[in-house]
Amino acid sequence: MTTNHYDVVVVGGGLAGLSTAAYLSSKGKKVAVLERGQLGGRAVTLKIKGFNFNFGAHAIYARDSSVLRTFEKELDLHIDWQDFNPNKAKYDTGDMLTAVPANVQGLFQTKLLKAFDKVLFTFEILKTMLKMETGHPHLSIQKWMEKKHINEEVQEMMLTLASSNFFTREPEKIPSDVFFNYYSRLFTTNKPVAYIGGGWQALITEFVRVIEANNGTVLTKTKVEGVRVEDDRVVAVMTPEEEITGDEFVCCIPPKEMVKVFQETRLEHAIAQYAEYEPTVVVVYDVGLKERIDVPYSYIYDKQNNIFITDISYYDHTCVPEGGQLLQATAYLRQSEVGNKEIIEQRKQEIENLYDKHFPGWREQLVVPRVSTRAIVQEIKWTMNQKPMPISLPDYRNLFFAGDWCEGQGQLSELSFSSAYNVSKLILEKE
Ligand SMILES: Cc1cc2nc3c(=O)[nH]c(=O)nc-3n(C[C@H](O)[C@H](O)[C@H](O)COP(=O)(O)OP(=O)(O)OC[C@H]3O[C@@H](n4cnc5c(N)ncnc54)[C@H](O)[C@@H]3O)c2cc1C
Repeated sequence: MTTNHYDVVVVGGGLAGLSTAAYLSSKGKKVAVLERGQLGGRAVTLKIKGFNFNFGAHAIYARDSSVLRTFEKELDLHIDWQDFNPNKAKYDTGDMLTAVPANVQGLFQTKLLKAFDKVLFTFEILKTMLKMETGHPHLSIQKWMEKKHINEEVQEMMLTLASSNFFTREPEKIPSDVFFNYYSRLFTTNKPVAYIGGGWQALITEFVRVIEANNGTVLTKTKVEGVRVEDDRVVAVMTPEEEITGDEFVCCIPPKEMVKVFQETRLEHAIAQYAEYEPTVVVVYDVGLKERIDVPYSYIYDKQNNIFITDISYYDHTCVPEGGQLLQATAYLRQSEVGNKEIIEQRKQEIENLYDKHFPGWREQLVVPRVSTRAIVQEIKWTMNQKPMPISLPDYRNLFFAGDWCEGQGQLSELSFSSAYNVSKLILEKE
């Protein structure tokens, strides 16, 4: 058995693991990343018949105030930002298409709210922007709205926005503080949504470039199966081939995996409690088309069925063969619907109907479909009874956690990046 020693051992090569490793190696740490499969984790780009299918639209929210932007600046990452065009975003209410009130212009154009309700809605948003309204961790957004006697139309609007941004069919369960925190960021940004040219893969390549330029080690197909602990420290991780020792350890694998790795350690029970949480699960149904179907929108949100379609090739020309089009559809699932084959078939049908309605002729142009019936968009769902995992626990002083199941800023990958950044800072402060 060989022994390799590193300043920092990072377990998991998803966005959290790679950004932690890139940041720490750029600060002079000798870092190793251990990934059981391929790099990227859920931020994966699959190339099929010339189409680059990304898991999700790799939309980055409020990029100007995001932690990814901080990484971009500090690590000199090359990111090809493609900003979302709000004028091409529409809500499908069932009988009409109308503007998404994602910015002030959208708010005044949308037919979803009557003139008076728009004033009320704007007022609520203004309070959020000025941080006059912060919500309460023990009050769901639904309960908060009832308590504040918010007008019904405005209530519906707020829940619709939350539904589309939090990837949930149950927006009423979001804690009000999480809701307001999120919206105060989103409504004060100049860049509400942006995509990345080249997809997730472009970002992964950039992180790996930084790690390798700083003499870091990236090991794929290297599964961590256990840890060796001494007193209040982790001293090594075990892979089938070797034991890898380190001064600090950052665990960037979902809690359900972590439970197995930390079996028979002091953390077994503490971690089990986080592993019981429910993830946010969606059905993804993407289609690669031979020729573009030109329509005046690049994003459609079906308000009744909680499905959205993004014309990702409108933003990222590199993801299609010449002249082609890549449409991504995502349908949210309620917790009770996860794994229910009948419901999932029904959701797929609803997606196809939405394609028929807004991209007529897509079936004739279809080159390759890609369906995933159980995609975990975020490991932890923000509902009243679920709390994210802290980035460190008192049991082991040289062990940290990062990932979208951890405490951090924002939603989705921003949670992975922000927890990765906070963990890196904690490690660097130890010096
Ligand atoms: C359909 C879909 C759409 C999405 N859309 C967006 C979007 O538009 N915008 C956005 O910001 N985010 C989006 N996301 C979310 C984003 O993909 C995730 O938040 C992010 O990729 C999570 O990264 P992570 O590193 O925290 O976790 P993961 O990606 O889960 O990484 C964990 C890694 O650990 C590895 N691992 C597990 N166990 C072990 C072990 N024992 N040993 C070694 N390695 C191990 C895994 O293989 C994996 O690579 C979407 C996700 C999905 C699925």
